[in-house]
Formats: sequence, structure tokens, C-alpha cells
Amino acid sequence: MGESTNAYASTHPGGASQEAADAAITDDFELAGVPDSFQRLWTPYRMAYIKAGQDQVKDEESCPFCAGPTRSDEDSLIIHRGKTAYVILNLFPYNPGHLLICPYRHVPDYTDITAEETAEMAALAQKAMRVLRHVSRPTGFNLGMNQGVTGGAGIAAHLHQHVVPRWAGDGNFFPIIAETKAIPATLGDIRVDLAAGWAELD
Ligand SMILES: [Zn+2]
Repeated sequence: MGESTNAYASTHPGGASQEAADAAITDDFELAGVPDSFQRLWTPYRMAYIKAGQDQVKDEESCPFCAGPTRSDEDSLIIHRGKTAYVILNLFPYNPGHLLICPYRHVPDYTDITAEETAEMAALAQKAMRVLRHVSRPTGFNLGMNQGVTGGAGIAAHLHQHVVPRWAGDGNFFPIIAETKAIPATLGDIRVDLAAGWAELD
């Protein structure tokens, strides 16, 4: 490579020989990373909101993901009840049809669930994608679990997996500048459509 292309080489105690060693190691591959279209914007004020949410969940009695299945599907916005896990509409959706897959058990961490729960949550995520495609034809999805308050979980005490349908152009400025998202249908209407779609695909 000749001239240094390693910005850190001159600070390495090993000097030129260390630089050559680094080049031999790093020139054969690129560092792992996934480019995306998001502009990075620090929003530390969101942490106050997230932490306030945690304080509402003292135990299983005050946990919305434990309470949900004790009420009717209509009242709780439940789409489907499985054996060890269920599917519910997110009350604070990023997009219409933003679903959450939750184990019935009040456990916080992905490593806490059993093999059976893991398998059923995965199967429910696949089914949720098929149902959303069937009902509302999204062109993309985000699937994910925020682990811990630090990881951005709104309710860190009870594990939940997000299934967010995406459409081209849905990432507008609303969520960034105003913490507001236009959802052009009521959650109740969306629940009816998705629950019907779920049954159709069974
Ligand atoms: Zn819970």
C-alpha cells in the first residue's frame, strides 16, 4: 500500500512494522456494517419517555403484556393467541399494522425463553409477515427486539418482538421532528382486518 492508509498507524507503538501487520490483517476485508438511509439524530429526550414507561411496570400485575391476554381480543387489540405466545397490535405504532409478538410468560430477555417459546415466536413472526402482506401489501419489514432500557425497550420487563410493515416513502419527517406519526386508520379497524387475514391464512 506504500503510504499509510491507516489513520491509527502513527500512534501504534509498533510503528512501521505494526502498520504493515495491520494492513495485512485489514486489507482483505471490509469492516462489518450495514449502510442505511437514516440520518443519525441523537434524541436523548426519548430516554426520559422510555424510563417513565418502565416505572409503570412494577410487576406482572402492572404489566400491559401480562394484562392483554386476560381481556378480550377487541379490548386488547390481540390478533392471534398461540400456545406459548400471542400477537398484539402495538398501541404506539410506527406504521399501520405494527405488531408485537409476546410470550405469555413475564420474562425480560431473549435468553429467558424456552425452545418451545422461541420456535413459536419465530413461527408467529413468519405468519405475521404473511398476514400483513395478504392484507396491506407492505414492500418491506423491520423485525426486532429491543433488549433492556439501554436497548430502547419501552417495556423492558416483558420480552416482545416488533414486526413493522414498511412501505416506500413511509419514513417521513413526522416521527423525527414531532414524535408523531400519522396512522390513517383506527387500531380497532386494523385489528379486525388483520385478525380476519390471520384466520384466512390458517
Ligand atoms: Zn408481563
